[in-house]
Amino acid sequence: MDRRHFLTLSSAAALAAVSGCQFSPAHSLPESSDWQQLKADFSGQLLFPSDAGFSRFYKAANSRYDSIIPAVIARCATTADVQQVLAFARRFQLPITGRSGGHNYAGYSSTKGILLDLALMADIQLEPEEDTAWIGAGAKLGDIYDQLSQKGRSIPGGSCVGVGIAGLTQGGGFGIADRLYGLTCDALLEAEVVTVDGDVLRCNEQHNADLFWGLRGGGGGQFGIVTRLKFQTFATADILSCHAYFALKDALPVLNLWQHWSRQLPEALWSQAALWWSGEQGHQPQLQIRVISVGQIKLLQQQWVNWLRRLPVQPVEQDVVLHNYREYMLTDCAGLEMPECKLPHQSEQAKLKRVAMAGSSDFFNKVISRAGLEALLEQVQQRQQQGLSGGILLTLMGGAISSVPAEQTAFAHRDALFSAQYLVSRPVGSPEAELKRASVWVNQMRSMMQPYSTGGAYLNYTDALIKNWSAAYYGAHYEKLQQLKSRYDPEQLLRFSQGIQPA
Ligand SMILES: Cc1cc2nc3c(=O)[nH]c(=O)nc-3n(C[C@H](O)[C@H](O)[C@H](O)COP(=O)(O)OP(=O)(O)OC[C@H]3O[C@@H](n4cnc5c(N)ncnc54)[C@H](O)[C@@H]3O)c2cc1C
Repeated sequence: MDRRHFLTLSSAAALAAVSGCQFSPAHSLPESSDWQQLKADFSGQLLFPSDAGFSRFYKAANSRYDSIIPAVIARCATTADVQQVLAFARRFQLPITGRSGGHNYAGYSSTKGILLDLALMADIQLEPEEDTAWIGAGAKLGDIYDQLSQKGRSIPGGSCVGVGIAGLTQGGGFGIADRLYGLTCDALLEAEVVTVDGDVLRCNEQHNADLFWGLRGGGGGQFGIVTRLKFQTFATADILSCHAYFALKDALPVLNLWQHWSRQLPEALWSQAALWWSGEQGHQPQLQIRVISVGQIKLLQQQWVNWLRRLPVQPVEQDVVLHNYREYMLTDCAGLEMPECKLPHQSEQAKLKRVAMAGSSDFFNKVISRAGLEALLEQVQQRQQQGLSGGILLTLMGGAISSVPAEQTAFAHRDALFSAQYLVSRPVGSPEAELKRASVWVNQMRSMMQPYSTGGAYLNYTDALIKNWSAAYYGAHYEKLQQLKSRYDPEQLLRFSQGIQPA
């Protein structure tokens, strides 16, 4: 559809038809003059399908959602732009979704309506006198680590440089510093939110505290559009990373020991057990155990020696590496300038590659029994025998994550000892049938592990196949989140298939 075609033909009815949303004929339809007016008042970029850059900017991190093509991309540059686009969507009842980094597993930042992209609102300002940072909602983790660490500061966050700060924070935010400094949402001090009514709200413990609560774990785009976020920062330090690799035949006793050993670790240390296999012939799955510390080098060295001594079998390989903080957090950017260290929808100079993937998750409040570990390992063997790839990541929680009272934020899994992620990541262009089977597999892993798990799921590893998603993502917090939805978006202008329903 070229722009003229869109301007004349686009209407709420057409958009509603493609999006599958209900359209109320009581609403007037946008005329081309309405679109022109929006464009005239807009300081960012409005991109229509025939515009240069459209086909680059509409795509998300996961290529599985490339067939969801928006009618327009509103690349907002100011809070006023966000207000205008929301008002336009509300006036004509057009489907709309926000995007920060575009990493949502289930494609919730893709739409056939208006894609409200925050990428141009990515300013990162450190306030040195108070060790806080204001970060634009479109900023990506790579730029945040890059810019803050040049001044010796950082925030707790995830490992992938292209992940957006707004999506990560609103879902929780796991990363190597979370046992020491909490989840990304725990470091959030304040956020600016544009409500669907166009109000600009300052949200913190004193102002709009109910919404501030919901922004910390309630999920991206449920209550309004976040435009900027203020975080507590921490002082960076060198990172020590210790790895040991084991053959699959030895994995059971090692995993078992790892669970009991890691839960006793001081909160400065982060740890993960990862089973990865490529599905390629001749490639054997391996178990990798990682322990990482930000600072606390001696403490980890001692713990690592202690771990190696207690092992029932020898690792195939092990290494201990000391990294500069910035280099470690920007590992994916090695040899690239920062504008190149992006995914294609995030920068014109981007050199990072997108993937096609499916994921799901679990939480465990106690160590997984031998039978549970055997079930996990059997899955690895079965998929490997079928020539199918996959990954199972068990990550230690606790520490600062669990010291935040359960009712203080909307994140519902404070008591968990471990999180699990089930993951299949394939190159772009992999057959959709294979990816659909992967979505089913990762989801079925939850059912298989149900006897051992809490039944919870991590909202940021969104799994569209989870049927009881409200209980799984939100647990006892769902009712309170429904009240927030009723208050801030009762008409559900912002909606997803697993969106919070008004009370
Ligand atoms: C490769 C990869 C690595 C990952 N690594 C980690 C990790 O280390 N730790 C971790 O915890 N998670 C990780 N995740 C999961 C990640 O946290 C979630 O996918 C998160 O939602 C991504 O945020 P985003 O802004 O990039 O995504 P988006 O898809 O842009 O947004 C996610 C959701 O938030 C909404 N949203 C986006 N911006 C706004 C806004 N400004 N206001 C309101 N709503 C908004 C969107 O509509 C969507 O529903 C990873 C995901 C991938 C694909």
